Amino acid sequence: MRAGGTLWIVPPARAVWAPAGIEHEIRALGDFAMRTLYFPVAMTTGLPGECCALEVPPLLRELVLELVERCPVDDADEPGMRLAEVAIDRIAEARTLPLQLPLPHDPRALRLADMLRNDPSSQADLAELARSAGLQLGARGGIAVDPGCRTSDPDIYAIGECACLDGRVHGLVAPGYAMAEVVADRLLGGSATFPGADTSTKLKLLGVDVASFGDAHARTEGALEVVFKDAVAGWGGAPSKNSRRLAMSFATGTRMAESRLPSRSQLA
Ligand SMILES: Cc1cc2nc3c(=O)[nH]c(=O)nc-3n(C[C@H](O)[C@H](O)[C@H](O)COP(=O)(O)OP(=O)(O)OC[C@H]3O[C@@H](n4cnc5c(N)ncnc54)[C@H](O)[C@@H]3O)c2cc1C
Repeated sequence: MRAGGTLWIVPPARAVWAPAGIEHEIRALGDFAMRTLYFPVAMTTGLPGECCALEVPPLLRELVLELVERCPVDDADEPGMRLAEVAIDRIAEARTLPLQLPLPHDPRALRLADMLRNDPSSQADLAELARSAGLQLGARGGIAVDPGCRTSDPDIYAIGECACLDGRVHGLVAPGYAMAEVVADRLLGGSATFPGADTSTKLKLLGVDVASFGDAHARTEGALEVVFKDAVAGWGGAPSKNSRRLAMSFATGTRMAESRLPSRSQLA
């Protein structure tokens, strides 16, 4: 149910109370059954002045069903009026539930919220949703951002794996955190810019630092793979928190940290 700038998702055995005069809209996805009771305003003075979602305990449920069955209930139906009074007492005491979703004010964000409301099972990823809202995407996906993590809409920032800076989407947590810091600074009036990121990271679950450099995928013909095992620290199969493993492949002729690396003959 939508009323004003708020949307209520109302599962079974729940209800929404709407005071008189509140313009509202009810939408259902699929088959459903609902009951609506209208009370004279004079009877509802003790009820909330604003819309709210309510739990419907068994007694209230039965009262609702009975009143709907008897409708119309008026002064000529004294037992019915007594039931209505008890129902109002029960509504006044019913537990309110946090089922409301405030809707955005921005018309583009509202359009997006409506899209998701109409198709909650939508598989659209964040970039697709961003495009629907009018944001520019990078050439290879991701929401295009400037070095300040600002999207094509100056009021919207994007960070982490959904952001594309200079045509690149960073697929690690560290760049996402760095972007979050940039946005925090920007929101506080600063002018921070994303410092860039390399491909080193910490394996989240193992807490092990990893990095790749050189011809990291050993695609060059004749590339060698060098594995450094820290036996003293106890590495013996799976990296542990205190171990260091250096695995690198490099193209023949690569002059990278040669003094620390074994020679080709040692490797052979
Ligand atoms: C198996 C695996 C292992 C990884 N290991 C490492 C690692 O060891 N180290 C490392 O640095 N990085 C690792 N990564 C990458 C890292 O997890 C991501 O780079 C990082 O989580 C990105 O953070 P994010 O907040 O941008 O996106 P996410 O963590 O993906 O968060 C995006 C959130 O948005 C939600 N979402 C998506 N679409 C919608 C939608 N339409 N509506 C509402 N919500 C939506 C998602 O459910 C998700 O909760 C790994 C990734 C995977 C898949």
